[in-house]
Amino acid sequence: MPKAYAAVALSVIMGAIFWSLSWAIASGLMVLLLYHVRKLQQLDVWLNNDDRLAELPESQGIWGRVFDRIEELQVKHFKSEQELTTAILRIQKSANALREGVITVDASGALEWWNLSARKMFGLKNKQDRGAPLLHLLREPNFFRYYHHADFGQPIYVQSPVNPERVLEIAVTSFAKGDNLLIVRDMTESIKLGNMRRDFIGNISHELRTPLTVIQGYLETFQLHYPELDADVQKSHTRMLAQAHRMTNLVQDMLVLSRLEGSIDRSKFVRNQMSILLAQAISRGHDTARKLDKKVTIELCLERQASVVGVKSEILSVLTHLVTNAVKYTQHGGRVDIALHTTNDGWCINVSDNGIGIGQKHLPRLTERFYRVDPSRSSTSGGTGLGLAIVERIILRHEGSLDISSQKGKGSHFTCTFPHQNMPSSDKEAM
Ligand code: ADP
Repeated sequence: MPKAYAAVALSVIMGAIFWSLSWAIASGLMVLLLYHVRKLQQLDVWLNNDDRLAELPESQGIWGRVFDRIEELQVKHFKSEQELTTAILRIQKSANALREGVITVDASGALEWWNLSARKMFGLKNKQDRGAPLLHLLREPNFFRYYHHADFGQPIYVQSPVNPERVLEIAVTSFAKGDNLLIVRDMTESIKLGNMRRDFIGNISHELRTPLTVIQGYLETFQLHYPELDADVQKSHTRMLAQAHRMTNLVQDMLVLSRLEGSIDRSKFVRNQMSILLAQAISRGHDTARKLDKKVTIELCLERQASVVGVKSEILSVLTHLVTNAVKYTQHGGRVDIALHTTNDGWCINVSDNGIGIGQKHLPRLTERFYRVDPSRSSTSGGTGLGLAIVERIILRHEGSLDISSQKGKGSHFTCTFPHQNMPSSDKEAM
């Protein structure tokens, strides 16, 4: 207001001196203009001040309201910035408390941020490594392929770059546009425990094999050499012998499974003539049918020269389990069809039967250890409940796949595919 009075006073004075209305108006406007320019200058100085808490000069009227509003907004902005910083610090603190390593990588593959655990696991240095490419940190070719494929459905296991004795599991999750979050866990201890469990099962199975063979041998000898024994004793012997056989099979399958848990030795890969392996599996199928005292027809349809690359004993084991299962779970007079053909994905081996079939709800669990659809039926047919677990493990070791379809009362189809890209260690054929 005082500025307005000053403008009016000046215009009256100027009007009186020059006795002209135009002079009076021009002088008034000049005073107002100078006043607004001064305020703009003050605002400009304030905006360029580094001290973000500096106060705007005292003002009245329209400039007073503008300055007050700006100050209000500034305080609000400052507060929300502080809240945001506190929230970020809290998140960082909680991420630092995690035992898992956490790393964020931007769309170009550069390291953005990591927590304390990741810093220890990878020996990261805050200043040097921020912005460095992730693939410089993890130089393993496997990780390179995994990261470039961007198929992050499964985690990957790598050696720690600071301590090669430690194994790290890295799970990648993509967020925003191409940014990735890496969660890293040190798996060394749990891998050690897994190995110990595997060795324990392997050793115990191995140790049990000898006493079982002795018991089985004595029981067989008794039966053979003492036919005059009482009928009840004979019956008990037969039962003991059957259980000893079952236990031997179980121990044998447990031993096989524990061996299969280790990684596959690719130097044992050979090109296997399938006609030979299938003939052996079919012969085992006929033996099973004879033991179970039933007649089952086994038909084979095979592309000539069909050959699958892999470990011979393991592929034979897959075929034998599938064929003997088909025989076991097919009634007297039933039929088993085996077909082998090539597809884009690899060699497909199909074992189908028109036996008892399997209810849909059981299909997803069939390859679990000791899972049986009907425990009483499989124990009478001499099953251990480990056959399909062995089959699946072998197929996965060969990077193949197993597909099971079945209809209760109609029969089952087991299809396993072994990829073409499996290469023999040298182009040698199985002997
Ligand atoms: P087992 O030694 O008991 O046969 P497997 O692991 O080989 O164990 O099979 C698991 C279960 O899957 C079996 O107990 C049986 O119930 C079912 N199964 C396997 N193959 C067939 C088949 N061809 N037809 C019907 N059921 C089957």
